[in-house]
Amino acid sequence: MKFILATKNMKKLAELQRILAPLNCEVICERDLEKPLPEVVEDADTFEGNALLKARSAAKVTGLAAIADDSGLCVDYLDGAPGVYSARYAGEEHDDEKNNAKLLKALEGVEKEKRTAFFVSAVAVVFPSGEEFTVRGECHGYIANEKQGENGFGYDPLFISEKGCFGSLSAEDKDSVSHRGKSLRKMAEKIKEYL
Ligand code: IMP
Repeated sequence: MKFILATKNMKKLAELQRILAPLNCEVICERDLEKPLPEVVEDADTFEGNALLKARSAAKVTGLAAIADDSGLCVDYLDGAPGVYSARYAGEEHDDEKNNAKLLKALEGVEKEKRTAFFVSAVAVVFPSGEEFTVRGECHGYIANEKQGENGFGYDPLFISEKGCFGSLSAEDKDSVSHRGKSLRKMAEKIKEYL
């Protein structure tokens, strides 16, 4: 089966291709299409809702089975914020520096026991038949007092997992415990039911 991955992120494409290759599935992305995918307004209030919006739109436009994901960080002390607004927590889209600075400020003086947080990755798959499913992966940990490490992206330098700070982990170590690693592995298992 051929899938379109609704993302501009080449790292996500490579990860998916690795995971789906043993299932004999081909994964293409937006740049393999003649026309770019239409922009989707991600205005759902859940990660699953936003992933579905993107996957349904890509499936409709291409006629292919479509995969899309939505992810973010939920901090317990902040009642789940930044949540679905993780990319634009500090205003500008995907400004990691500002997002991390805002998060550290919001948790200033908060003791370690109350700095618990978890990453969420929701993946939606929509088939040409209209059948669809979502899966979710979570990774629980806590927010550090200062940034650590040079690896990763987004909130990685502030997130301490069971394997250590995401900012200091290799890609393989992060994948083995991360929200996205978990959701993609669940998705691959579930796709087998549709092949
Ligand atoms: P999106 O799902 O690509 O839109 O990502 C949403 C936002 O959540 C990103 O811009 C990051 O700020 C944050 N995020 C999601 N996954 C991760 C991760 O694995 N590490 C660090 N930040 C992440």
